[in-house]
Amino acid sequence: MIALFVHKPRFLDTTLRDGEQTPGVTLTPDQKLEVACALSDIGIDVIEAGSAAASEGELTAIGLISDAGLGTECCTYVRALPYDIDLAADAGADSVHLVVPASDLHIVEKMRKTRDEVYAMAMSAVEYAKERGLIVELSGEDASRADQAFLSHIFTDGVAHGADRLCFCDTVGILTPERTAEFIPPLTRIAPVSIHCHNDLGFALPNTIAALKSGASCAHVTVNGLGERAGNTPFEEVVMSLEVLYGVDTGIHTERIYPPLSTLVARLTGIDLPANKAIVGGSMAFTHESGIHAHGVLRNARTYEPVPPEMVGRTRRIVLGKHSGKASVEASLNELGGYTVTAEQLSAILSRVKTLGEEGKRVTDADLMAIADTVLQLVCTPALSLRQFTVVSGNKSTPTRR
Ligand code: MN
Repeated sequence: MIALFVHKPRFLDTTLRDGEQTPGVTLTPDQKLEVACALSDIGIDVIEAGSAAASEGELTAIGLISDAGLGTECCTYVRALPYDIDLAADAGADSVHLVVPASDLHIVEKMRKTRDEVYAMAMSAVEYAKERGLIVELSGEDASRADQAFLSHIFTDGVAHGADRLCFCDTVGILTPERTAEFIPPLTRIAPVSIHCHNDLGFALPNTIAALKSGASCAHVTVNGLGERAGNTPFEEVVMSLEVLYGVDTGIHTERIYPPLSTLVARLTGIDLPANKAIVGGSMAFTHESGIHAHGVLRNARTYEPVPPEMVGRTRRIVLGKHSGKASVEASLNELGGYTVTAEQLSAILSRVKTLGEEGKRVTDADLMAIADTVLQLVCTPALSLRQFTVVSGNKSTPTRR
């Protein structure tokens, strides 16, 4: 496979900031530290640990993570305010994700400010953050709806004032890969660019890939695609797409994607994964029922598995149901052990499995054993034996018992 990417992409994980902004999700400082350790272990470059000005708990978490000696850059979201920057620096963060509104919609309607005012705030905030010894990633909020000339102006002068990196935020998930490929290249000539996408229309992954292909050097991601509304770009999808489809060595320890990382985040946030979610889906992502598929996978897994389950720390499951075929039933019987069936018996077992599956029932191992025992007419050693059975009936008789 030919690598289309000129460099190894970096990952800024914002599960603990944008991901935690998912309605109903709150993590304690200790839980945040646990997630940060898993992120560091898997090979994330930058952990956005929280929003310094949001709460005491956030500050505690940022302090815990920066003190943990993870060897991963600890970043904090800040507004272009000295107050936020002081909190970030005092908590021990290495860097700030310094966010300024870039579109007129956000500048005028949300902030009630002018472009000149936002520009001035951005420049002095960058200077102040550098004075406080922080790495600065200057970020344009709602950049995809901004006047690109204004965005470029803020970014160019921001870098002149000391900003180390830039970030293009598709805050409401309205980019397309085509527009991404148009917007990103000019910005990469100013400084290294990160891409921050949202999944409102299901385009977070393709837009993120398009940005990386266009010269962006870092992807902002969240584990399991957590985030406000439809979520952020899912970490696991970007990593596996780059590895499997584009031949990029991401340097991520992919075998740690499901457990411990994805399952830990799902458990701590209480946000269950959709059964069919790509890569980390709850019960279906690596499960086969259909006879044709299961048969193929049993002969050569690549027939119906674009991503080997073990590559992301998962195992393949073959389940039985109305779509099952002989190969799956035979494989399941072999797994249970103790069954030797003739071709005729196998057909009979399959037919009963399909009938049960057709009723909409999941065919469990216990079901399969009961079916196989019936078909094979196995003699069971009874646990109870009936010694005597008396029935007395009639309209005059007295019921008796012996
Ligand atoms: Mn966001």
